[in-house]
Amino acid sequence: MRAPTASHPGPMTSALTLVRPPAAGSPRTRDAYPCAICFLDTVGPTRRVSFGYGVAVHLCSVHASSRYLKRSDGRVAADALAAVFESLGCLTPNRRRALAAHVRRCEPAPETGRRRPGAYGGYRDLYRQVVARRDAGDALADVLADIAVCPRPWGLGRPSAATVRRWWRTAPIGAGA
Ligand SMILES: [Zn+2]
Repeated sequence: MRAPTASHPGPMTSALTLVRPPAAGSPRTRDAYPCAICFLDTVGPTRRVSFGYGVAVHLCSVHASSRYLKRSDGRVAADALAAVFESLGCLTPNRRRALAAHVRRCEPAPETGRRRPGAYGGYRDLYRQVVARRDAGDALADVLADIAVCPRPWGLGRPSAATVRRWWRTAPIGAGA
């Protein structure tokens, strides 16, 4: 939590110097709103953060930072806001959808297409490469050896050898195309 500083003497000037201008079409941002997460302990100005689905909350500079919002693939912020909404008796389906969408946006995604649920999780591109090599007649041992020496190539760490073997056994022919 940040303490007020000499450069932040009070709400009247902070509104002029520290609050970002609102996005076009959004209601005027004021620093008088408490942070939805800090609430009574809010320090400093807040800004309006939109989560889509018409859901927006005011957050302090700590909780509006991308570092906080993206922590643990967005789950920390989503869980905190879900608790806030639940406490207020307003965790509506729409708000649940907005928070779930926030988590989906923060999850590491393959470079092409959306992340799909399934055996290969976020390793879609790697899955396709493995299956394409299998279909082309490469040896499983060679593919595993290549994966073992590739340093975090997919932004997710390395899939286990058992996972790659499962893809090898179960992927339909042509799924790597
Ligand atoms: Zn806060």
